[in-house]
Amino acid sequence: SKVPPIILNNGAEMPQLGFGVWQVPDDEAVRAVGTALEAGYRSIDTAAVYGNEAGTGRAIAESGIPRDELFVTTKLWNGDQGYDSALRAFDTSLKKLGLDYVDLYLIHWPVPSQDKYVESYKALEKIHAEGRAKSIGVSNFLPEHLQRLFDETSIIPAVNQIELHPQFQQREARAFHGEQGIATEAWSPLGQGKGLLEVPALSAIAQKHGRTPAQIVLRWHVQIGNVVIPKSVTPSRIRENIDVFSFELDQEDLGAISALNENRRLGGNPATMN
Ligand code: NAD
Repeated sequence: SKVPPIILNNGAEMPQLGFGVWQVPDDEAVRAVGTALEAGYRSIDTAAVYGNEAGTGRAIAESGIPRDELFVTTKLWNGDQGYDSALRAFDTSLKKLGLDYVDLYLIHWPVPSQDKYVESYKALEKIHAEGRAKSIGVSNFLPEHLQRLFDETSIIPAVNQIELHPQFQQREARAFHGEQGIATEAWSPLGQGKGLLEVPALSAIAQKHGRTPAQIVLRWHVQIGNVVIPKSVTPSRIRENIDVFSFELDQEDLGAISALNENRRLGGNPATMN
């Protein structure tokens, strides 16, 4: 199943569905990313703090897939924020990945308490100017953090990667990103596979379409315009999660999923996370 691209605000194409590797140990990442690439994923989401950039890079090299057909994202960790340290951290990430550029480099969290995300972003702008990150963006930024980047730096972030799933739908953030031309990328799109996938309304929609609840949730993300990066290390689920481009949810389904919002975070709060 071919994943359609979305067009970022700099004209670059990003697959709308990719493979996330948080909590996948480095050695296991080689196999998991390899399985994902075989299944047709072309976008991989890693981060320095995940400790699996090397394994991810190895799987990419072993796949033999031409570099320009892949979309690789990694992220600057909180402790490496600052202009010079961000440049150094990027060099380390690139080396571990075994690549000479990434498609997308993100600031992982704003960490407002250390107040270094503006200077960190200026380092990302330099990396972008050098062609070593085709696109740059942020993760877990609240509108107030984005506003400071608009005021104090030159490049509008291409992406803001935020926690987003049917129980935490982030309507205000999505609307703000839409106004500013920033793509919304959903992390923990399946709600980390915990309670969400057992919600009766989702089982009913799944049954109606002959699909799984995970596929229904991923299809919902795709139809509302999110970039989505589900994680699994189970080969059958890896394949299941990309197979969401040959059916469509109707208005009734979308309405039922819309009603599941509880404004409940599973992960850290960007205002206080450090
Ligand atoms: P997720 O919502 O993708 O859920 C993954 C879990 O759901 C799996 O571990 C498994 O238990 C279950 N699952 C997966 N496929 C399933 C299926 N088909 N059927 C049933 N259960 C299934 O959670 P995640 O890993 O937290 O998020 C995805 C990716 O987002 C991460 O791997 C990472 O790349 C990214 N992420 C980024 C941040 C950030 O701060 N930027 C934070 C968290 C995650």
